[in-house]
Amino acid sequence: MSSSAHKNQDALDRLADENGVAVVVLDNNAAEIAAANNNSICRSLWRSEEFRPRCNEFCGKAFEKTHSSDEPFDYECHAGLACRAVAADDEAGPKVAIVGRTFLKAEGYRVAAEKAISGEWNRFSPAEFFENVLMGASAEPIRKAAEKIQNSIPAKANELLELAGEKNEIADQADLIARRAAELHTSGLQIDVPQPLQASARSRDEAVSAAIVRSLLGTLAGSDYVEACSLVLEQISENYGFDSLVWLEQFESGFRSIAALGELGDRPVTIRMRRDSERLLAAADRGDFVELKERVGGEHGGRKMLLFPARIGGEIRAALGIQAVPEMSRETSAIGRVVKAVSPQIEILRLRDEVSRSEAINEGVRRLGDSLKRIDSDDFWTQITRVTAELVRSERASLLIRDENTGKLTAKAAIGSAVDLRRTENVGSRIANRTFELGHSIVVPDIDAAGIGRAPGEWRYKTSSFISYPILIGERRLGVMNFTDRADGGSFAERDLEVLNTIAPQIAVAIDRGKLQVRAGELEKRSMTDSLTGLMNRGYIEERLIEEMNRASRYRFPMSLLMIDVDHFKSYNDSFGHPAGDVALRLVASVLKRTLRAADVAARYGGEEFAVLLPQTPVEQANWIAERIRQRVERTEFPKRQVTISVGVAGYANEFEDPKDWITAADMALYEAKELGRNCVIKYEDMGRSFREKIN
Ligand code: GH3
Ligand code: MG
Ligand code: MG
Repeated sequence: MSSSAHKNQDALDRLADENGVAVVVLDNNAAEIAAANNNSICRSLWRSEEFRPRCNEFCGKAFEKTHSSDEPFDYECHAGLACRAVAADDEAGPKVAIVGRTFLKAEGYRVAAEKAISGEWNRFSPAEFFENVLMGASAEPIRKAAEKIQNSIPAKANELLELAGEKNEIADQADLIARRAAELHTSGLQIDVPQPLQASARSRDEAVSAAIVRSLLGTLAGSDYVEACSLVLEQISENYGFDSLVWLEQFESGFRSIAALGELGDRPVTIRMRRDSERLLAAADRGDFVELKERVGGEHGGRKMLLFPARIGGEIRAALGIQAVPEMSRETSAIGRVVKAVSPQIEILRLRDEVSRSEAINEGVRRLGDSLKRIDSDDFWTQITRVTAELVRSERASLLIRDENTGKLTAKAAIGSAVDLRRTENVGSRIANRTFELGHSIVVPDIDAAGIGRAPGEWRYKTSSFISYPILIGERRLGVMNFTDRADGGSFAERDLEVLNTIAPQIAVAIDRGKLQVRAGELEKRSMTDSLTGLMNRGYIEERLIEEMNRASRYRFPMSLLMIDVDHFKSYNDSFGHPAGDVALRLVASVLKRTLRAADVAARYGGEEFAVLLPQTPVEQANWIAERIRQRVERTEFPKRQVTISVGVAGYANEFEDPKDWITAADMALYEAKELGRNCVIKYEDMGRSFREKIN
């Protein structure tokens, strides 16, 4: 790479990192010219023969789209990633820069993760696939990075890509909110933060509601979202004398409760209703309510609720629900006014909350990805439990895995426990078993209210709220994770599941792999060893040769290979029988075991042939080790008659392209040893040149 290309790459890296997006430059043939912070999902799909055609329908069309219209091309690709493509021509020719490749919604990521685990993308290695997943709270960083690239186009590409390196002022949350709000604004949504209503309101009613709004707007600004919703409910309750109220936010195909007082707080309230419903929009505009009847399990319950919708832009984003009482009076219009006045402020708090939550999820996915790379480490189970616990802000967590043999849940890791769960009998009998059987999560804001019965006192839980979350891959149930003692002392709510739902597929696959690894370890031992001698088998050493050759070419360690063959063994068998021959082979193997170091790999390569890999061993030293083995065999007392071996030695040389070449070299030396009268050691390196060339 030339130094200017390096500079360009640096600028590209900076631009990508600062905005948390991928930047990939393609030429007119969709060949990748440069990439910075590329999404690992894109890397995997783009490289695969099977999925590349789907990528070609999106990123593959970016060049054409940007060069036929001169406009940025915005799209969400088949993998659910948000992208903006802009023309990025330079002296070398026309190009397109694809910016983004980020998930803007946790849901998009979850869908992708599920596909990678049990869907059509499951052939990719999770470690690679999830190595650098990009998520963003908004499209703003994409737009910003794309703009920087566009601005740099008219001048020389080299100089201008450096513009990207300018100090970037993002990151501060307030800024993000403002930008998010601006984005919503440009997408047709207006948020007007109203002035407190005029004190010169015509009626007493209006004066009261104006006073409420005034005092609320003062306090709301400094509150967090959930707190703010509660404050609104309290104010309305105090001033208008209702005691059962709920604040709802838009959620999927309707609304769900965020804060509640009185009876409406007994259990979560959800309302299925289109948020662009004409009826709701009209009520919101009038500052009025719609009346709803409660349904419990499909039956009409007796209760009625008045719903005061709050319109933000073309949608109903929130609503206040009041449980209807017989004497509903003129207050309703005042309440409607309060809802209308405070809801924009609440919406801003909700957006801020959403941004920080999606940032937390984003960060969580990244951290989880990092810890999954350490999947081989001993503390893997603890690690995964700790990272997940931090993500749900729980101080105490445990991971229970179903034992394949007993079918029971057994604790693999526990953090922050007063007692060691791994030594507690029947762990999980209380709640985790239920979660496991149900196959869905249990969130308990308050264990006493839920009537579950407290944990034994010795567990010393600080709070009475917890989450029990099943680990599933499709229908397959692997285990349960439990979280309790929320760090801020508060209680867990349904909303806390969002982060878990997002990372759960990744956790599940990691746990499954962790389990597989344990099983593979056991199987491996059985399938990798030779049953007669207890040495490794041929398959194993051949694998190891490949591994070690890769390592040696990287680190330039010397290493050597011995090929050993027992002399005149056919006659040994013929004279004393096959079983006696087996005994002799075991004796030869035991000499090998005694003579070699732990790092050496001795294998039974064939009938009465052995191969020994000596890592980090120069050929001279290997020759000496071979000689020692030969002498020891010679001096060993065999039951029937003396046994000798011949050995061929070959040091690893760069000219060997694959393990076969290396084995051939050692075999040739062994053949030479036989030719020279057996019971001796010959180095490949000492053989005549003409002989050596045979292998090429
Ligand atoms: P050389 O010195 O040239 O190696 O002579 P050799 O007789 O050892 O040569 P060859 O390779 O032809 O014979 C190998 C013999 O090893 C054939 C077989 O009887 C014996 N053998 C191979 N595998 C086993 C085994 O698992 N158990 C026993 N007892 N004998 C085996
Ligand atoms: Mg042989
Ligand atoms: Mg032999």
